[in-house]
Amino acid sequence: MTNKKKHWYSYLWIWSIIYFSLGFFNILFAWLGLIDFILPLIFAITGSNKWFCNNMCGRGQLFWILGRKAGCSRKKPAPKWLSSKWFRYGFLTFFMTMFGTMIFQTYQVFAGAGTLRKTIKLFWTFMLPWKWAYSGSIFPDWVAQFGFGFYSLMLTSTLIGLIVMVLYRERTWCTFCPMGTMTQGICKIKEKGASK
Ligand code: SF4
Repeated sequence: MTNKKKHWYSYLWIWSIIYFSLGFFNILFAWLGLIDFILPLIFAITGSNKWFCNNMCGRGQLFWILGRKAGCSRKKPAPKWLSSKWFRYGFLTFFMTMFGTMIFQTYQVFAGAGTLRKTIKLFWTFMLPWKWAYSGSIFPDWVAQFGFGFYSLMLTSTLIGLIVMVLYRERTWCTFCPMGTMTQGICKIKEKGASK
């Protein structure tokens, strides 16, 4: 990775920092994180490859820069179970369940069965007040509710990534990242289909 030719997309780690900073000021910017959800899937479905992960993921780049270049990683091998199939697919299932819960909470606000909660939920447990990041807009409340929920998921997953970056290797998060597991699964299914 260190000797790779630099392209514009080699600097997307800066975007990751900007993304989290913007969410601190206005939670509606959290919607931009959907790009990181949709693009890897598009690359995997259309190109049958993990080009996004290998080249364009700002979060993966950020872990590398902080871990390798800034020396924040112990660079120790991670426990094997972290990259095992059961853990990767188990974590993906858990992550998608939490994603579904967040969509349901958004729906409740949309349907008038719930009110907008201006909080960020860290590690799916700890509620942090985040009132300053939203004081109304031209959009209905459910749009902001999605922002708070999605930002919570993005922040939580990045914090987990930073913790395992410090404890183990720079990009340990990538071994069980739900997006990585999904794109890998898609590529495998497409490979099998092509070899039939
Ligand atoms: S596995 Fe996840 S964090 Fe790592 S490069 Fe791919 S999408 Fe980014």
